[in-house]
This record gives sequence, structure tokens and C-alpha cells, in this order.
Amino acid sequence: MPERGPDPEIASAHFPVEPLDVYNRELLANVHPSGWVNPRPAARYHLVVVGAGTAGLVSAAGAAGLGARVALVERHLMGGDCLNVGCVPSKGILRAARAWEEARQAASRFGGPAAAGAPSFGAAMERMRRLRAGISPHDSAERFRGLGIDVFLGDARFTAPDAVEVDGQLLRFRRAVIAAGARAAVPPLPGLAEAGFRTNETIFNLTELPRRLAVLGCGPIGCELAQAFARFGSEVTLLGRQAQLLPREDADAAAIVAAALTRDGVRLELGIKATAVRKRGPEKVLDFERMDGRRGEGGLRELAVDEILVATGRQPNVEGLGLRAAGVRYTPKGVEVDDRLRTSNPRIFACGDVASKYQFTHVADAQARLVIQNALFFGRARASALTVPWCTYTSPEIAHVGLYERDARGRGLEVDTLTVPLADNDRAVLDGEDEGFLRVHLERGTDKILGATLVAEHAGDMLGELCLAITQGIGLGSIASVIHPYPTQAEVVKKAADTWRRGKLTPRVKKLFRWWFRIFS
Ligand SMILES: Cc1cc2nc3c(=O)[nH]c(=O)nc-3n(C[C@H](O)[C@H](O)[C@H](O)COP(=O)(O)OP(=O)(O)OC[C@H]3O[C@@H](n4cnc5c(N)ncnc54)[C@H](O)[C@@H]3O)c2cc1C
Repeated sequence: MPERGPDPEIASAHFPVEPLDVYNRELLANVHPSGWVNPRPAARYHLVVVGAGTAGLVSAAGAAGLGARVALVERHLMGGDCLNVGCVPSKGILRAARAWEEARQAASRFGGPAAAGAPSFGAAMERMRRLRAGISPHDSAERFRGLGIDVFLGDARFTAPDAVEVDGQLLRFRRAVIAAGARAAVPPLPGLAEAGFRTNETIFNLTELPRRLAVLGCGPIGCELAQAFARFGSEVTLLGRQAQLLPREDADAAAIVAAALTRDGVRLELGIKATAVRKRGPEKVLDFERMDGRRGEGGLRELAVDEILVATGRQPNVEGLGLRAAGVRYTPKGVEVDDRLRTSNPRIFACGDVASKYQFTHVADAQARLVIQNALFFGRARASALTVPWCTYTSPEIAHVGLYERDARGRGLEVDTLTVPLADNDRAVLDGEDEGFLRVHLERGTDKILGATLVAEHAGDMLGELCLAITQGIGLGSIASVIHPYPTQAEVVKKAADTWRRGKLTPRVKKLFRWWFRIFS
């Protein structure tokens, strides 16, 4: 007889899903069905996958689709962070916040009607929950069972180099994939736990808008959510240790986003260190000091808020997996893998946030495909060969692919850099979205694209052409001969290509043309 699945009480030891309305019930029915009965394990699996986030789902579905016998183990919610507490809910609320902002600006910018009436944060969150529930069948336990995969709900723990235990059952494997993901890293800030705080695991449970919100951390998650909550009407303060928000991005690109956030009412406190949190009546008080030691100068030293969102980085889920028993080396930074994503145990691979410096859904997906080849077919695909783009979905967005100028120089590569302002793009001007630019780095003297940064309202959607070019070795010169529809913001890529081509008109070539037109007349 198959054994019973995990008790919902055990599942609730993990982060809560609230409120339990019709949409969240639908979500849970898909991603953690109560009364789920774990199957009786096969004698041995070709592949056991630990974690059913993007990396785990893609590994499991891909391997099963090719005919492998696969077990997939998830301790909490199928779909992992992306579906439940990451990309999907965040992009859902960012869209609502953008709609509100556009409605507010419709009169002043476009001569439209003045926005009237009180907006409803509750309705925006309900919309997000409805859409998330609507997407969830794709990642559901039932769908994966239908793909022929043995789906186990419960905590997976390696007990030997070739065995995983779940809910008292032993799953033996030829190969395993650790796809256990990551969670919010919470700084050891005195008083923070006592005062209470939210992370990405709990912020999307809100049904009422916090009047005042402190966002700790000025990376992509902090910036996106700070802007959204400010647009919803919260008094938002974004605090970061770095002097620049989105520290990985070029300073002028980040400055455009900083200006946009400030316009939306986000108060920026950068180059600061939070030192403690206190409860004062119903409010939380955050103490902080400037990193340069100028205590209190030029800003607050004490910030009273109703909610604190911690977005100070991610911590891989390496605890409790029995990695020692499996002979898998790891550090607090994650499971150690080689370029083929193999761990120190040659039977076990790892991919996604638990083992990657790039913590994105599309990277988890790409790495999982690579793991299938390498783990099951003796493939030799290399993670370092992947061209990885990313995008921060603020308004405007910053998207990037390939090398930054500093990376290129660090590798001893000389670059030619082209920067085309969006103000030169008709569609961006007509849309009133002309703050931004496209920057392309080329290998010096050639049209080989090494990297690109795009700051634009829909930069993520526009970057695909450059990702294709880098991945397939298509030079910028070739893009100059591609016809782009007019007027589109994506034409900025062609503009960069035309600019490069014009640069090829050396004085010698120009002289040749002059000679030609003299004899041609
Ligand atoms: C707020 C936010 C917004 C984001 N927005 C974007 C975005 O716009 N674009 C983008 O590309 N990326 C985004 N990300 C990042 C993206 O969500 C992650 O990169 C992606 O989810 C990683 O997938 P994963 O499969 O590696 O891990 P996860 O999605 O974390 O899945 C890991 C799974 O493993 C399970 N697990 C862990 N340990 C065990 C165990 N012992 N036994 C069984 N199961 C276990 C966990 O419960 C979890 O379900 C965002 C992240 C956050 C937090």
C-alpha cells in the first residue's frame, strides 16, 4: 500500500500562504494538495530531483519526457519561489502599480481625465492572487504525476551517496539533482526578529497597504517592490549599504532608476548601515548610521515604519539535506559544482539558486536542461558557456547581457562602446518614455558584441535581439541590415548598428566615395 502524504500541519511549518481565499485555496490545491498520497517508490530511479522550483520542475519534466524513471520531491510548494513568492506575484503587482501611476499621470502628461476615487490595494493583491492561481496548474503536483513522474511531498534528505529519504521512504537513484533553491538572507540585526519583518515569503500575503514601509536592500527585489509600494501610496524608504542602488549596473543606468524611484516618492537612504530595530507601540523603529561615519548628517538616523521588508540578498537552502551523508561538498554560498554542474559526488548534480551565482528563473531553467544532458547522457555541456541576460523590472527597466566594460577590461579585452540615448528614438519620445539608453560594448575594431545594457520602459522585452546576437555570434554590422518596424523602441538596437556602420566610414573610404561621385556626375 502506498503511504500517506505529509500532514498539512507539517507543511504549515513552512512559510504561510494567506489569506486563505478562493484563489489561494486553488493555488494550494495545485501546488500542495492536502491529502496527497505519496507513491510507493520504484526499486531505483534514473533521476531523483530534490526541490520542485523551476530547476527541479524542468529537470524532472525533461528527464521524464525522454523516458527516464523520475522521482520529484517537494517539501512545501511546487513551483518554488518563482510561482509562489517571486517572479509571478511580484510582476503581477508591479503591473497594477504601473497602471495606477499612469492613471495618476494621465491628465498632466496626456490630457486625459484626472484620476478620481480611492484606489484599492486589496483589489490589486486579489488580482495577483487570481492570476497566480490561474498559472499554478502548470506547476501542479497533478500535472507532474500526469507526466509519469513519482511526485513526493515531504522533506528530502540524503541518507547515502545513492539514496534519499522522504517521509520514511527510501528513494534509490542512479543520478540525483539538488534543486533546493534559496531563501531571503536575514541580516543579524538586533531587535529585527522581535519587532517582526517581512521577506518575499510573506510580503505577498498582505491585504492592506502599510502606511509606511522600510525596504532593506537596494538590489533588484528591493528596488522593484519599493517602487511598487510607493506607487500604491505607501511612504517608502529604501535603505542600502551601497552608495548606488542596483550596484551591479552601470552608474548612469542606476542613476536613471534612482531618479524614477525618487519621483515616485521613494526616499533613498544609500550608503547606510542599519544597526538595530525597536518596537515603539504599534510601530517599528529602525536605527541606522552612515557608512562614512557622519552619524545623522543629511538624513534620518531613526526611521519609524509600520512594516519592514528585508531584501538584503539570498541564502542557498543547503541545511537539512543530508549533504554530508551524500558526500556533497557545500559552503554557506551553496552546493559546490564544477562547470558541468556536477557535485563532489559524481552521481549528484545541482542547479538553480542552490548552486548558481546567477539567481534567475531563466538560469535555473537553462541549467536544468544542461544537467539532463550531463547527468543522463554523459554530456559535456558547460555552465560557463551560457550567455546570461537579466532584467530589473523597475520603471524604467534595466536589462543587461554579456560583459560590462569593467569585466571586459578585467579580461584584458579592449572595447569600443556605443551609447544611443532613447531620446533619439521616435517611439520612445512619442510614448513619453525617452529616459534611458542602449549601450553596446564591442571588441575593439570589430562588430563582435561583448555586452549590452538597456535602460527603457520595456528593456527586458527589447533585449532578446542582442541575446541572440551574442549567443549566435552575430555582429552588430549584421543587425544594421535587419529591417525593424517603425516606430518601435526596439529600433534603438538598429540605431546602434547604423551608428557602428557610419563609424566604418573612415577618411579613406569617404575620399573614395568623393572620387566616385566626381566621375559618376
Ligand atoms: C521577489 C522575487 C522576485 C523575483 N523575480 C524574478 C524575475 O522577475 N525573473 C527571474 O528570472 N527571477 C526572479 N526571481 C528569482 C527566481 O525566483 C529564482 O531564481 C528561481 O525561483 C530559482 O529556482 P530554483 O528552482 O533554483 O529554486 P526555488 O524556486 O527556490 O525552488 C526550490 C524548491 O526546493 C524546495 N526544497 C528545498 N529544500 C528541500 C528539501 N530538503 N526537500 C524537498 N524540497 C526542498 C523548496 O521548498 C522550493 O520549492 C525572483 C525572486 C524573488 C524572491
